[in-house]
Amino acid sequence: MTRLAEEIRTIIDTEGPMPFDRFMELCLAHPKYGYYITRDPFGADGDFVTAPEISQMFGELVGLWAAHIWSSMDCPEVVQLVELGPGRGTLMADALRACRVAPEFLAAIEVTMVETSPVLRQRQQEALADCGVPVSWALGLSEVPRGPLIVIANEFFDALPVRHFARVQEGWSEKLIGNGPDGRFYAGVSSNPEPLIQADAPLGSVLEIGAIGHQYMSEIARNIADFGGAALVIDYGHTQTSLGDTVQALWRHQPISPLEAPGECDVTAHVDFASLGRAAEASGALVSGPVTQASFLMQIGLLHRADALKRRADPAQSIDIDRAVERLTGTEPEAGAGGKAVPGMGALFKAMAITSTNVPKPPGFEPDAY
Ligand code: SAH
Repeated sequence: MTRLAEEIRTIIDTEGPMPFDRFMELCLAHPKYGYYITRDPFGADGDFVTAPEISQMFGELVGLWAAHIWSSMDCPEVVQLVELGPGRGTLMADALRACRVAPEFLAAIEVTMVETSPVLRQRQQEALADCGVPVSWALGLSEVPRGPLIVIANEFFDALPVRHFARVQEGWSEKLIGNGPDGRFYAGVSSNPEPLIQADAPLGSVLEIGAIGHQYMSEIARNIADFGGAALVIDYGHTQTSLGDTVQALWRHQPISPLEAPGECDVTAHVDFASLGRAAEASGALVSGPVTQASFLMQIGLLHRADALKRRADPAQSIDIDRAVERLTGTEPEAGAGGKAVPGMGALFKAMAITSTNVPKPPGFEPDAY
């Protein structure tokens, strides 16, 4: 049993079964034993690989996208550039390097990295040590100075805890995690149905609600509506809200039950882009997309960037660049965790932008062309 599992057992013994979102929150962010708090999970040796770790082109293009947004905001003298959940800091380092072609933008930005993990903060500090612009770290958006704002979030929303409700005879009951007699955790449902949920669905259906993601999105969209700016959200998920439990846990690239090894495996949920978009619109911002990651990256110049890099590359590096393009934009099914076929990253991942009403439609969001 993991240290965190012992701790969760004790909490359940004293307080009773806990909602799934609290369990997921403890797994990822427990201050001592949480998955992200205790390690750097990225890269081939870790549990997963993210787009900025696949190729420098990803962060470079996102950086140039942000510089373009800034100019379409009429180049405010100061703009907050915020990254949510920046992992190893690779995306931001690549973005800032690429933006050396736009020195006025670099002169205007104040960077804030919103990160809860001390281990990853350390990695980010190393990655940005020589970046040449002021960088601060924050635990949440509320610490970011108010003003014109550009937010980047790659694979952030999928790491936020979700609530699960099951359709029972009497309505919708929240999924609760309890202690089993054999030392394992078990999922049950609350005996009090949730009166706020009125949707109809066959018995046994599961409704997944990303309440914390909604709160983040509402706050981002409110700030953008008030002060001007944009947010770019890239994540894996679905474009339409639908029923079902999308939570998955990965341990060294292999799927396991999220209840199996708390604190030792990555736990994520698909992002419901439709509901995030509704949260943004309800707070007064405009929504573009979602489009597939392939479509977004192609529209903002991935192939041009790849060609430019290849002109300076040796043959082996050229092959790597082509492979990276293929990985970032491939839409054909490929072997995912545990050998299960999943759509290529280019189709599984989506990009969505949130803008204030005075910013023109951002680049990359023409209807899916790939
Ligand atoms: N964007 C990075 C990392 C994605 S993994 C990349 O693409 O490589 C998720 C990141 O979000 C990690 O850095 C994790 O520590 C951070 N994170 C998770 N929950 C968070 C929260 N509630 N607040 C801030 N950061 C969080």
